[in-house]
Amino acid sequence: MKWVVGNWKMHTTAQEAKLLARRLREELYEPELPRRVRVIVCPPFTSLCSVQEALRGSWLQWGAQNCHEELEGAFTGEISVRMLTALGCSAVIVGHSERRRTAGESTERIARKLRRVVQAGLWAILCVGETLAQRRAHRVRAVLTHQLRSALQGLEPQQWESLLIAYEPVWAIGTGQAAEPEHIRQAHTLIAELLTQLGAPGHVPILYGGSVTAENAQQILQLPEVDGVLVGSASLDAWQFCTIVRVAALCTSPIPTC
Ligand code: PEP
Repeated sequence: MKWVVGNWKMHTTAQEAKLLARRLREELYEPELPRRVRVIVCPPFTSLCSVQEALRGSWLQWGAQNCHEELEGAFTGEISVRMLTALGCSAVIVGHSERRRTAGESTERIARKLRRVVQAGLWAILCVGETLAQRRAHRVRAVLTHQLRSALQGLEPQQWESLLIAYEPVWAIGTGQAAEPEHIRQAHTLIAELLTQLGAPGHVPILYGGSVTAENAQQILQLPEVDGVLVGSASLDAWQFCTIVRVAALCTSPIPTC
């Protein structure tokens, strides 16, 4: 089973999102795909309702790009996990580097958000990854260790089951320059080791994100260390996204039916 998650970022009005979601539903109507791939699209908050309408009853899932760490209260402009659950979301992206950078999200806040998401039984897609400067300074291990430890230390055993990690080197996001397969393998192996050290009771899926396209999807998804991909720009193009989903299906074995 592989995962393909689309991050639509701050793109699509509600109407545009509905059209895109409908198109994905039509194009990905293939009985074999759901046994091999799990697909989640994450539109902006304002498009969640129309995406829910378009995808309800299909095998495609939807999620959010962020949430607040409290369930409700005087937090103007924020959205809670309770609201997302009511809209049928099955996942929330937590700690995306764009939020760490532009919204100044601290590691403590990311840890609180993550707990809120997993407590609600939704998938938390925790993004981690180094900047170019950190990579050049040979600090990849230190950065990943810090990001994972601060977000995951003390997680309850059953909460690990709602967790996905997205390894997203910041220098690869939106640059058109995906990381090389060898770099991805090394980083994913390191993350798996760190997760074990932090007490992960079982396998935690590790996705790669950063300039994934229809063209490079195969060389990334065929790596055994890669459980899936988090796709930004290419997820807004129905043809590219559907191609990535089909490639993911070819790079895995199906879940056996009983
Ligand atoms: C992302 O936003 O998580 C991402 C990976 O973006 P892109 O695919 O555009 O690099």
